[in-house]
Amino acid sequence: MSFPPPNPLVPNPPQWLAEGARHLWLPYTQMQTTPMSLPVVKTDGVRLTLADGRELIDGTSSWWTAAHGYNHPHIREAVTAQLQKMPHVMLGGLAHEPALTLATRLAKLLPGDLDHTFFSESGSVSVEIAMKIAVQYWINTGVKGRTRFVSFRGGYHGDTLAAMSVCDPDEGMHSLFKGAIAEQLITDLPTTPEREKAFDDFLARHKHQVAAVMTEPLVQGAGGMIFHDAETLRRLRRACDRHNVLLILDEIFVGFGRTGTMFASDAAGIVPDIVTLSKALTGGTMALAATIARAHVFEAFLSDSGSKALMHGPTYTGNPLACAAANASLDLFEREPRLEQVARIEAQLRRELEPAKKIPGVVDVRVKGAIGVIELAAMGDLNVLKRRFVEEGVFIRPFGKIVYTTPPLVVEDADLARLTSAMLKVVGEQAAEVARP
Ligand SMILES: *Cc1c(COP(=O)(O)O)cnc(C)c1O
Repeated sequence: MSFPPPNPLVPNPPQWLAEGARHLWLPYTQMQTTPMSLPVVKTDGVRLTLADGRELIDGTSSWWTAAHGYNHPHIREAVTAQLQKMPHVMLGGLAHEPALTLATRLAKLLPGDLDHTFFSESGSVSVEIAMKIAVQYWINTGVKGRTRFVSFRGGYHGDTLAAMSVCDPDEGMHSLFKGAIAEQLITDLPTTPEREKAFDDFLARHKHQVAAVMTEPLVQGAGGMIFHDAETLRRLRRACDRHNVLLILDEIFVGFGRTGTMFASDAAGIVPDIVTLSKALTGGTMALAATIARAHVFEAFLSDSGSKALMHGPTYTGNPLACAAANASLDLFEREPRLEQVARIEAQLRRELEPAKKIPGVVDVRVKGAIGVIELAAMGDLNVLKRRFVEEGVFIRPFGKIVYTTPPLVVEDADLARLTSAMLKVVGEQAAEVARP
């Protein structure tokens, strides 16, 4: 069987790609039909350089990670210095400065008494840990039967089996994986006062088996960039308080400025019981994730004997290189005007994507912070769209029914304008294609 199919954009793939593409199994990819990926040999700022020398403006920040653009010298220097000193030691019995400094800084940065950080290497694992903390919290406090989770349609929390169980049932392939993943209580976000009542009743009915309610705050990202307002989060906090259920906010996508505040929960002025962070935590340089708990949650794990300890321990937890990268990324959030840049990006996206509302087949245009979305009634051939964007000199990856951009937060006006004009042009072409008799 021959795969991948050739990619007209890569007529002469370098040897490592031609050979390696038969051996590398790609994420969420039908390997038989998806054209060979674009070979990237260098990154700088908002630009990707391909093997043939072409440059693309990146509209995705590599799955929303590269907040400061690629190759920021400050992060590069911090990681290089750490590599020379000590790439890794385990956190079992040994302590090192990068992880402890990062835990201290996260405690100061997050609202309220979110003061206790557990490190892992991927968002999905940080979600698994949040779920385990919630379940063990009830066990440790002597409350029985609190093992299930309430989550929401449109949500995405990762690809491991427990994380999948709290994703949107369709997007999370719950029927395909029936029997392999736990059945959770999935409902609608309380986006209106009427839905608040319905949600409250729902929680009242189920609370005796619920460990926690979990959502992505303000934006459901991988589920289709679906927005809700800060009041929705306050409704969740009120309902969880009323029924004594933990609230987990998954800030893996929205955390670190993406929606205009450092954390999305800041916009609602609420303090969740547990938060998960990853994606932009290291500014898009190293794999790192964090699960952070409030004092009352953490204290339920304390005891004079060995019992009640959190039963989790990834080999690379708190890897010094990754923590050094995260500390350097936090320096940049302190020193550089990232949130002001997000406000500017938001205004420009609103202005420049507005004309898309007139394109036939466009059902919605929406912007929040540094997220710009054009939603279509129906998506055309994804491979054609992806190719057209590269021909326009940008890297944009539509999915589902949306064409969106989440540029690095340092993108300059002219580069952002190239991203938005490519979006209008390619979406316009698709409308013309669909309209053709
Ligand atoms: C990406 C993402 C995850 C999963 O993170 P991975 O690092 O891909 O495992 C979980 N939750 C949200 C909101 C995400 O955007």
